[in-house]
Amino acid sequence: MQLLSNQSLRAFNTFGIDCVARHFAEFNTEEDLTSLLDTPEVKKNKRLILGGGSNLLFTQPFDGVVLKNNLQGIELIEEDNDHYYVRAQAGENWHSFVMHCIDRNYAGVENLSLIPGCVGASPMQNIGAYGVEIKDVFHRLEAIHIEDKHKHTFELAECSFGYRESIFKNKEKNNWVITNVTFKLDKRARLKTGYGAIEEELDKMHLDQITIKDVSKAVIQIRSSKLPDPKILGNAGSFFKNPVVPIDVYQSIQKEWPTAPAYPISEHEVKVPAGWLIEQAGWKGKKRITHGVHDKQALVLVNFGDARGQEILQLSTDIIADIQSKFNITLEREVNIY
Ligand code: FAD
Ligand code: NAP
Repeated sequence: MQLLSNQSLRAFNTFGIDCVARHFAEFNTEEDLTSLLDTPEVKKNKRLILGGGSNLLFTQPFDGVVLKNNLQGIELIEEDNDHYYVRAQAGENWHSFVMHCIDRNYAGVENLSLIPGCVGASPMQNIGAYGVEIKDVFHRLEAIHIEDKHKHTFELAECSFGYRESIFKNKEKNNWVITNVTFKLDKRARLKTGYGAIEEELDKMHLDQITIKDVSKAVIQIRSSKLPDPKILGNAGSFFKNPVVPIDVYQSIQKEWPTAPAYPISEHEVKVPAGWLIEQAGWKGKKRITHGVHDKQALVLVNFGDARGQEILQLSTDIIADIQSKFNITLEREVNIY
């Protein structure tokens, strides 16, 4: 554990933005973390707890301390008739954790295969894909308070999970370092294959019986064909959340686009795919020299190599304004802006 000054963050964010942190340290143990929290640099400055850097955009030098979480370890801590309780340390790579579960037949996270980032960030925005969210498999998490260093166990009900939301993104923003998460996984799989193209992909495999491994393979196949690999093309996944709008707003869109997709949320509201709105507005594949909108998925903004965070932020602002004027819908950014 060493506090460095003026550290480049380029290798620590999947957008590949070249930006400098005034102070930077990595921690491998909770003891390292609590020692760091006692240093004047951490006490006096703003802090950023960093996982895989796959859900953030740096738009200026980070004038504070970046603390990179490297806590490692996965253990089965308990089981009952129906469930395995598996605790993963926050610095574990999310996809490796999913593979660990699939190898041991712990069911429930297979739809969340190939999501970049670390376990510790997974509750932050209640990560979700193909009809499964962290809240569906979450048991509890442990976190250390950044100011007074006390440890607290957050049970499911305390986390206020919502669509790409949790208490850690709202009321408790910047207050906690999540150190580990315990997941409640099924002994008997309850496969969720009715979402997106999963069924179609499974059909291609001609299987007699479908396992969690097959669902994971299908998800990996679909994701690899649509989403840019951050190692090759900088991005942070979906830049915007899917808006939830009143039905009358959707009905007015339908007048011009009768086949506009929407998914019911309640009696009065529907979710409209933001990617569809952005594509209809003509942004899919748009390039602005250093950055642009991905040509296979309009929800993803990409860095072609040397983009500045401010440029990508400006692109997102332009898209938000255009969607507002064309559809009367306000898009919200999903990516954390720093
Ligand atoms: P970071 O980007 O490092 O951090 C994100 C936020 O969490 C920051 O505010 C950070 O301070 C905070 N944070 C991180 N770790 C901790 C901790 N231990 N304690 C306290 N705060 C912490 N997301 C989805 O939900 N579903 C998807 O299907 C999906 N697909 C993606 C595909 C691609 C190609 C990419 C690039 C991203 C995708 N994402 C998706 C977004 C992203 O992968 C997730 O949000 C992921 O959980 C972020 O993890 P991270 O470790 O990279 O977090
Ligand atoms: P898709 O299958 O093309 O579907 C487009 C959108 O429609 C998705 O965003 C999804 O909403 C919604 N949708 C599709 N089928 C649905 C159903 N049966 N019920 C309710 N909503 C439905 O999406 P995609 O872009 O290829 O992504 C596939 C999955 O991976 C999605 O769940 C998506 O959220 C997730 N993903 C997330 C990120 C990220 O960074 N957050 C990046 C890539 C992919 P939801 O998004 O609400 O599921």
